[in-house]
Amino acid sequence: MNQSFYWRLARRYGEREAGLSRRTVLKAAMAAGGALLLGACGSSPVDPFVQGSPSARRVIVIGAGFAGLSCAYALRSAGYAVLVIEARDRVGGRVITLSDVAEGKIVEGGGEFVGKNHPTWQAYARLFGLELQDATEDENLEKPLCLEGKTLDADAARKLYQEMTEALATLDSAAEVVNADEPWKSAEAAVMDSRTMADWLAWVNPSPLAKRALRAELEARGGVGLKKQSYLGQLALVKGGGGSKYWTESEAWRAKGGNQSLATKLYEAIGAAHVMLKTRVVSVVTGNQGVFITTDNGQRFMAEDVVLATPASVWSKIRLAPELPEKLLPQIGSHVKYISAVRRRFWKDVGMTARGLTDGPINQMWEATSGQSGEHSAALACLSGGNAAAKVRAIPEAQRDAFFAAEISKAFADYGENRLGARYLDWTGDVLARGGRCVAAPGEIMAMGETLYHGIGRLHFAGDFACWKFAGSMEGALNSGASVAQRMALRDGVIRA
Ligand SMILES: Cc1cc2nc3c(=O)[nH]c(=O)nc-3n(C[C@H](O)[C@H](O)[C@H](O)COP(=O)(O)OP(=O)(O)OC[C@H]3O[C@@H](n4cnc5c(N)ncnc54)[C@H](O)[C@@H]3O)c2cc1C
Repeated sequence: MNQSFYWRLARRYGEREAGLSRRTVLKAAMAAGGALLLGACGSSPVDPFVQGSPSARRVIVIGAGFAGLSCAYALRSAGYAVLVIEARDRVGGRVITLSDVAEGKIVEGGGEFVGKNHPTWQAYARLFGLELQDATEDENLEKPLCLEGKTLDADAARKLYQEMTEALATLDSAAEVVNADEPWKSAEAAVMDSRTMADWLAWVNPSPLAKRALRAELEARGGVGLKKQSYLGQLALVKGGGGSKYWTESEAWRAKGGNQSLATKLYEAIGAAHVMLKTRVVSVVTGNQGVFITTDNGQRFMAEDVVLATPASVWSKIRLAPELPEKLLPQIGSHVKYISAVRRRFWKDVGMTARGLTDGPINQMWEATSGQSGEHSAALACLSGGNAAAKVRAIPEAQRDAFFAAEISKAFADYGENRLGARYLDWTGDVLARGGRCVAAPGEIMAMGETLYHGIGRLHFAGDFACWKFAGSMEGALNSGASVAQRMALRDGVIRA
């Protein structure tokens, strides 16, 4: 949830009590820390992956997003010979920090908010000396909340908040019994996984307006309609995020120098010699002797294990032998971001923050440059997920700016005269992502959770789709990568339980 609607209302009208204890989050932090504290990185040449006769157990990691980097870092720390192969000319994947959108400021083109309840991100930030800064805007100012084409007044917003609180509290309490690490092991897991979030919304049955708000909120985050979201998947997220704190603390911070600075730090710590950029893996053949990898430029590598750390949406572009089980295809949502540079924070002139929520084609808006000093420039971020993203993606490029100008102006009348330019990031159209954020489909956790968690022989999986308690987030990717490395190190007796 980017600056979720619920989060905004909660900030505005008061925090709810935590449904789960602080210990739950602390325990998660310790678990994540375990994977990070494996020791310092040594150095190892790439040659063993070509010639054989390894001096250490070899692992090839496909993809240098947060999951692949976190996995490679932890494996290198444990003494493995690691080679990361990345198709793009940069590391970070769906995290990209842009410094050429708003003059003198940075904005996030993909993954943006870091949670106070995200232990792995925080552990890495401490390790590399990265500062996490408050991402909130001035809570005393009014925020445009627009549902059914109408902007809500303060009373209506308060009433809506109360209704949403009651509805979401049912998720907080239901989540308490869920095993967030391995949700398929929860009591009644199959029943909960077959339920959809649409079933849940029909069951709680709030007023039509609250229904719209909850639907907009959950669709913006998941990037698919509620019928395509698993109730068990949502409960695992709530449990992982600390119960009610999931709704209020998951988007509290950004990295001061940009989220991509973590990717850069991990890349440097792994060692540039161990990361091949601009190289796409086209085939992975797993046999008794090892794993054989072929790249688009015809290079061949071998290793004892391989970690597939690309979004599942692009697995079909890699020839996998043996083939993956037919049903093994985690869902990814559709997301687009439109970031507009503006002359200044003009919304303050009329006593408003940049934060807005609508159930129209832009789900959420916020200031992409909040917390950065200097009044001479700023940027507005607009996020669309699921049906809203589909509407935006259907707009011809030549009409896109005019479309966004009209939509943004509904909330901020002075947008037109302050607009400087914009950057459109279509993650669903990106051939190496084919989607935005992962969210478990109904039945997905039962059908494939265990396989994604344990891998298939020498083939392992890492990514935001393989960490159910933080699915679809940078934390999920980091946690999943470190956890896979930890399980491998345990398997090989490199570390003890
Ligand atoms: C618009 C948007 C907003 C978001 N907002 C937030 C947020 O506020 N907070 C949050 O925590 N998360 C957010 N996220 C989610 C977060 O960015 C992702 O969950 C996370 O970055 C996923 O990391 P990953 O490593 O699993 O995958 P990726 O980042 O996708 O990394 C996979 C890598 O694999 C590479 N690759 C693909 N195919 C191949 C191949 N054949 N060979 C070699 N390499 C290959 C790709 O180039 C990529 O670098 C957002 C995402 C989007 C798109």
